[in-house]
Amino acid sequence: MPKLYLLLGGNLGDRTLYLQQARESIAAQVGSIKQASALYETAAWGKTDQPSFLNQVLEVETILGPEQVLQTINTIEHDLGRERLEHWGARVIDIDILFYDNLVQQTQRLTIPHPQLHLRRFTLLPLQEIAPGLVHPVFQQSIAELLQQCPDELEVKKYKKEV
Ligand code: ADP
Ligand code: MG
Repeated sequence: MPKLYLLLGGNLGDRTLYLQQARESIAAQVGSIKQASALYETAAWGKTDQPSFLNQVLEVETILGPEQVLQTINTIEHDLGRERLEHWGARVIDIDILFYDNLVQQTQRLTIPHPQLHLRRFTLLPLQEIAPGLVHPVFQQSIAELLQQCPDELEVKKYKKEV
């Protein structure tokens, strides 16, 4: 069964609750969650009045194709975001596709692997926790190697261990 890595993130409202609801929706609509990283917290840079972000990476087994995964996570974002829009006026949950097996695809709607993943510590750190040996199909380097070379200096801290 295809193996999918997703990045969850949010910085508004009850962040851990939104992440939990996202995991529940993913398990119900995308596929079984095989691994979940801890939650990681990253300070929002630039605007200091912005709350910090929580991020988490999931490994999911899915029978959906990549386009169907995108459609489903967009629906989940939308469903969780509706509530939030009334209260906060901004998105509370972002779900990105990091990898879909060894697939390399670049279309207008969907780029896999995620084009920013090797540049972001808040993606590589949780990914390294659950898949350090995973090899990036374009760069042919492991997550651990990509992390060593990552130029991002933003501090990323483990927030809380949670599944
Ligand atoms: P961002 O993730 O950059 O904050 P959005 O979540 O609004 O922004 O995503 C914008 C668009 O990015 C989506 O509508 C989707 O079509 C596109 N996209 C391209 N590649 C990916 C990917 N790997 N995972 C998720 N979305 C992607
Ligand atoms: Mg997104």
